[in-house]
Amino acid sequence: LVPRLQPFTSTIFAEMTALAVRTESVNLGQGFPDTDGPPSMLEAARAAIAGGVNQYPPGPGTLELREAVAEQRAGYGTAYDPASEVLITVGATEAIAASLLALVQAGDEVVLVEPYYDSYAAAVAMAGATRRTVSLVPDDSGRFALDLDALRAAITPATRAILLNSPHNPTGTVLSRAELEAVAALCVEHDLLAISDEVYEHLTFDGVAHVPLASLPGMASRTVTIGSAGKMFNCTGWKIGWVCGPAPLVAAVRAAKQFITFVGGAPFQPAVAHALRHERAWVDELRNSLQDKRNRLVAGLSEAGFGVYRSSGTYFVCADVRPLGFADGAELCRALPEKIGVAAVPVQVFTDNPDQWRHVVRFAFCKRDEILDEAIQRLHKLR
Ligand code: PMP
Ligand code: GLN
Repeated sequence: LVPRLQPFTSTIFAEMTALAVRTESVNLGQGFPDTDGPPSMLEAARAAIAGGVNQYPPGPGTLELREAVAEQRAGYGTAYDPASEVLITVGATEAIAASLLALVQAGDEVVLVEPYYDSYAAAVAMAGATRRTVSLVPDDSGRFALDLDALRAAITPATRAILLNSPHNPTGTVLSRAELEAVAALCVEHDLLAISDEVYEHLTFDGVAHVPLASLPGMASRTVTIGSAGKMFNCTGWKIGWVCGPAPLVAAVRAAKQFITFVGGAPFQPAVAHALRHERAWVDELRNSLQDKRNRLVAGLSEAGFGVYRSSGTYFVCADVRPLGFADGAELCRALPEKIGVAAVPVQVFTDNPDQWRHVVRFAFCKRDEILDEAIQRLHKLR
């Protein structure tokens, strides 16, 4: 393995899920829902397969799906031409990797907010670029906030792009309009590209609104926005994602994408297009149900003795393990499955400053209520 990829040999999700399976634990580690997406979408995929939609789809994705994605983004006031400004990818993971491969190179720096989604650091390394990280900082209310001074300080003459994720995995922070406006101002001031990972855009709680970075002044021309059907419609295994942006940037991402996977998911593309057009009410229900699940898990974790940070979106909530007498979240997560039959993920592995995050553990709440209740009951045994 080449040196630049040696830090990335295994993912924490694979490790913790394998441990959860081996110990028959309740898996609140890897973030995937345990119920299916809208029945009409599943039926559309079955019909597509039965109807012979089983060969390579068009390179940029089917026009129908690109149109449906553009219509969905138009709801934010951001207009994209389905012909040249939307690209369908093999999940958001490919969208992230192809964006970095196409837009940054050796000598460039990419600013990441930490904790960062695990594929970001690996994809920056694959592109030959260097990452610089800025830590989220918890405020008095337990919300992880963006440290704008640190962000400003991380920008150098070599900085080419900021890779931003809101709603944020793993903290559940939804960046405020003010935070995003400050990011936008820095991008404009330093002429940076923005890669905006908005896969959890619909999964926000308590009335907190998602603001697309591309909708802010000066950003449409310099932002590629990434979405995923997996998170919108509970179909993480279908791996249908997308990139929206100005035509030159999307053409660049497409150039990289065509030699990574070329295309993917032929029968799933019409099914996701159908869901984007006809199942928006289902997504609203998903949001409401996830908010209830967030409440359920937060209450359970608090009663079990964890310190709980504020999650306003995504599938995830972070907890402080110190009140229970533990110092190291990674040690705890490696022991928990054997000890009490619950799997979670240590947040320090998503950072370049593990000491600062050693006490933080991520739990996923995108699970059936009885699964959450079982996990909570087991977690009470930690006291
Ligand atoms: N970005 C973030 C922040 C994620 O949480 C995920 C999924 N875990 C992805 C990207 C990857 O999405 P996909 O499954 O569509 O590749
Ligand atoms: N996105 C999910 C998570 O953060 C799972 C991703 C993965 O397994 N690669 O848990």
